[in-house]
Amino acid sequence: MHEYSLAHALLEGLTEHLGQHPVHGRVRAVHVRKGELLILSEEALGEAWRILAEGTEVAGSELRVEKVPVKVRCPSCGYEGPVKYVSEEGWHFAVPLLACPQCQARAEVIEGRDLAIVGLSVDDAPLDHQAA
Ligand SMILES: [Zn+2]
Repeated sequence: MHEYSLAHALLEGLTEHLGQHPVHGRVRAVHVRKGELLILSEEALGEAWRILAEGTEVAGSELRVEKVPVKVRCPSCGYEGPVKYVSEEGWHFAVPLLACPQCQARAEVIEGRDLAIVGLSVDDAPLDHQAA
């Protein structure tokens, strides 16, 4: 399962990061950016995360996914930025055109393919704190 291996990779990266930069408190949410070109089910990813995080220091945390639009760099004219989208009548979505919007040359994708952790929401309350 695609989402399962992606969640696994995210968790491994996060565990390594937390090993070097420990947080004080419980991790409530893990914020990730998902490139527009990366096709996945957010629901399946969240589910995989819940299962894999079980028993780790981020158990019970929630994955919050933010979508990142495609960005390209053009080797011909040096353009760098967003692309144009095509949408035909009857389509329910727009498809990014991976060509330079200025000169139509084939452009290189610099953003929009990855899944990356961008931040954590940490509960500052001590772990052993109980409401009086
Ligand atoms: Zn160009």
